[in-house]
Amino acid sequence: MWEDFEVALEKVASDRRKEKPDEGNLGFGVHFTDHMFLMKWDREHGWHDAKICPFDDFSLSPAAMVLHYGQAIFEGMKAYRGEDGQIYLFRPAENFERMNNSALRMCMPRIPVEKVVKSLKALLYLDREWIPKSEGSTLYIRPAMIGAEAALGLRPAGEYWFYIIMSPVGAYYKEGCNPTKIYVSDEHVRAVKGGVGNVKTAGNYAASLFTARLAEKAGCTQVLWLDGCEHKYVEEVGTSNIFFKIDDELVTPPLEGSILPGLTRDSVIKLAESRGVKVVERKIAIDEVLEAIEDGRLREAFGTGTAAVISPVGELFYRGKNYVIGDGRSGELSVELFTDLQAIQRGEKDDPFRWVV
Ligand code: PMP
Repeated sequence: MWEDFEVALEKVASDRRKEKPDEGNLGFGVHFTDHMFLMKWDREHGWHDAKICPFDDFSLSPAAMVLHYGQAIFEGMKAYRGEDGQIYLFRPAENFERMNNSALRMCMPRIPVEKVVKSLKALLYLDREWIPKSEGSTLYIRPAMIGAEAALGLRPAGEYWFYIIMSPVGAYYKEGCNPTKIYVSDEHVRAVKGGVGNVKTAGNYAASLFTARLAEKAGCTQVLWLDGCEHKYVEEVGTSNIFFKIDDELVTPPLEGSILPGLTRDSVIKLAESRGVKVVERKIAIDEVLEAIEDGRLREAFGTGTAAVISPVGELFYRGKNYVIGDGRSGELSVELFTDLQAIQRGEKDDPFRWVV
């Protein structure tokens, strides 16, 4: 069915082109480019009606199944404008492979990865003027899939829409990469083993909002999530994977079903190892982390994810008590990995792992 996959092109009329936002004030995810990619799926036709078309509102039935039962998955990636003027993507096919894992878990159809990457490149080329040029700013890419069939009664939808929209975003760190204060939740959990924490489905994010608000009230920027069974082992931080540098080892929780396999996580593991750092994927209890902070053995902690790349953790707040990590400033390894990875992503540095497209 995918052999005859063709993408139609409907360009936005020149008088309907949007004005580009001021690069100094982009924010995150508030401006959208002129075009988007859209395709539809049903049982009879598979994926069909693929097109690059003007960014516009959808007309969706109030009975659309996604609005009731939450069959929605998404991805997040970035396009970078290199110093050489070229456009760079970072491991894009792996993002869409991850989306296919999410699709499988949510009883949604697989997408043809190669063809979607090709379509994304065409979309990027068409909207290339939207890729910000200023230091640190990027074009955020949001692929999403929703169950679009209008019907009530719980079962997998019989129709799906897949789309890609793009948004120019400002530098994540306006004043350099400053460490964050993190709220350790021993009350709520993000995911459980056997659940859907290892896929990128919308409900995971809705379920995290209440706890994020508690964190905010406590003066913290993110939640450190513990495991869903014993509330004992560290899992993720906000919507990022977590790393701890204890003595000379870099420790990160293993992927055992409740943690999203972050592409930045995987890249950081490979980069750190290539720098001679020993990386250990093992369970790590919150008590071990706190003890290592008090003993001065926990040198650095940081989150990894597409949005911030690397986000150093300066302080934990757990059961009413603050624990400052190291001297509360960004650790040496965090900064080195951040600089290295960002340079690779922007095509400014050798790419020994062939991550960049
Ligand atoms: N965990 C969660 C829950 C996330 O939403 C994300 C962002 N996709 C990550 C980790 C980091 O993944 P990546 O490095 O692929 O952006």
